[in-house]
Amino acid sequence: MSLLQLSGVTASYGASQALFGVDLEVGEGEVVALMGRNGMGKTTSVKAICRMIGAGGTLTFDGHDLHSLPSHKVAGLGVGLVPEGRRCFRDLTVRENLLSAARPGDWTLGSVAEMFPRLGERSGQRAASLSGGEQQMLAIGRALMTNPRLLILDEATEGLAPLIRAEIWEVVARLKRDTGLAILVIDKSISELRRVSDRAVVLERGRTVWSGAMEALGSEVLERYVGV
Ligand code: ATP
Repeated sequence: MSLLQLSGVTASYGASQALFGVDLEVGEGEVVALMGRNGMGKTTSVKAICRMIGAGGTLTFDGHDLHSLPSHKVAGLGVGLVPEGRRCFRDLTVRENLLSAARPGDWTLGSVAEMFPRLGERSGQRAASLSGGEQQMLAIGRALMTNPRLLILDEATEGLAPLIRAEIWEVVARLKRDTGLAILVIDKSISELRRVSDRAVVLERGRTVWSGAMEALGSEVLERYVGV
């Protein structure tokens, strides 16, 4: 059974429908890339999973029907979200930001600082004083502190310098290799997605139009639906 399963998922912003039938599965320990051009429904699918927008269709996590749950309960089931725009509490310190997200499990201040040494070094600094890359690491650290079973990364490398992007991809690769965490990843870098992902799901106008093993994702599909 898949850890996360979406089938025929629909969602609207008021009168404007954004999702028309999203099918998506993430198994235990699997890394899945959610792909598609801008505005095709990737972030809206994430919002549907995290119950930040009402949705129709089948939406389950570890066998639980997500429709009946508020967002904090979805997090409690083990869905850790790193949202677009790397949100954290700007006036709290790095340590306070991490602790405010903490749930019991293997991820602690110590293990997050081991993954992101710079967060350890800056633990007493206010989040607002961090660089963009460090804030993104903090956003990932906060999601890990919830001890998730599924980590969702929505454009986690967006707007960052190449060296910081490389560091974040290295972390994703380490999480996959060392922890077996399931990961759903949205990003513009096709080459990095190819490197870390087991499977891909491609959206076009709010619908799943292709899904399969990453190595089966050919240039035809990429040109047609992802625009490369
Ligand atoms: P991007 O890479 O640009 O974030 P995306 O694939 O994540 O693209 P979504 O953000 O999910 O796409 O957008 C899907 C559709 O929903 C688009 O047509 C978008 O204009 C619309 N949409 C997104 N957010 C809102 C909102 N808050 N209110 C109304 N429409 C929205």
